[in-house]
Amino acid sequence: MSKRLFIPGPIDVNKDVLEYMSTQVISHRGKEASKIQYDISKKLQSLFYTNSEILLSTSSGSGLMEGSIRSCTSKRAVVFSCGSFGKRWYKMGVSNMIPVDLFEVELGKAISPEMVDKVLSTGKYDLITITHNETSTGITNPIEAIGEVIKKYEDIIYCVDAVSSAGGIKIEVDKIGIDICITSVQKALGLPPGMSICTFSNKAVQRAKKVPYRGTYFDLLAMYEYIVNKNYQYPSTPSLSHMFALDFQLNQILKEGLENRFLRHGEMANIVRSWAKEHFQIFTDENYLSNTLTVVKNTKGISISKLNDQLKERNLEIANGYGELKEKTFRISHMGDYSVDDVKDLLNNIDEILGFEKN
Ligand SMILES: *Cc1c(COP(=O)(O)O)cnc(C)c1O
Repeated sequence: MSKRLFIPGPIDVNKDVLEYMSTQVISHRGKEASKIQYDISKKLQSLFYTNSEILLSTSSGSGLMEGSIRSCTSKRAVVFSCGSFGKRWYKMGVSNMIPVDLFEVELGKAISPEMVDKVLSTGKYDLITITHNETSTGITNPIEAIGEVIKKYEDIIYCVDAVSSAGGIKIEVDKIGIDICITSVQKALGLPPGMSICTFSNKAVQRAKKVPYRGTYFDLLAMYEYIVNKNYQYPSTPSLSHMFALDFQLNQILKEGLENRFLRHGEMANIVRSWAKEHFQIFTDENYLSNTLTVVKNTKGISISKLNDQLKERNLEIANGYGELKEKTFRISHMGDYSVDDVKDLLNNIDEILGFEKN
């Protein structure tokens, strides 16, 4: 089946997953709801290689980003940013009156463990946020090496935005030492938008208990306590439709096999990268390329929006550059349930439109 949306989320959703979205609703306070949330949690613990509890939120991933910085900063937060999504976390801190500092690197570059070490050694901070996969620049930050640095500092809550990577790139939450790892369902997990997920470590639980003003809807401790004290329920009414579909889709993902899924993402990425190098250039630092999307530098000065209009006539779509990178770059996503052939089909269509020779 040829796919249509090659933007970095939302992406095309398989028909059987969509059908699960239309399951008849149940009471969110019954045993059945508890069982579904429990089953989802166990499967997500496998996906994240963690024993931490899993929190579900009826919101997109931004909700949990805001909830994490607010629920778990007791002293001062530090945000490391290499693009638009890193900066968003900083804005969330500021608008919630959280003491927070921002450290940025040039667009297209990664955050280095050395930089993190230097900043944490000041002793000013007790929470750090890192974007795993920066969707505006195509960078995958070295969260493992950064985790090693963070382990030197006892009091730090390590928050990771894995919105555009979880389910496509391996993230070993416990081994790396991540306290809160956040993702949305509409990216590499391949569901319709409307629900998000995070891991929540014991250390994060203990920290949140010391933070007096955690808000209400995105109070991560409240979500955790409903799981522990009310047998896997949700403080308000969750999107049960998403839960039915997520439970099913996680079965499909585990059936494919996590390692197979990560390999498939690597193969799709390799195909797009070699195509990009043949006809354009890759925008991103080559040492930190993402396996879920590729950001291509528009070296030929083509009109990206015109290309996209022509692609849409063929029922396909890619993404323009994000923010200030619009028209200077374009983004091709290769995440979720897309196959190598889906990606090749997209590239062949671009070749035809732009008049490139076929190999
Ligand atoms: C898409 C995205 C977000 C925002 O997620 P929503 O689910 O739209 O709130 C945050 N961070 C990254 C890296 C993303 O790709």
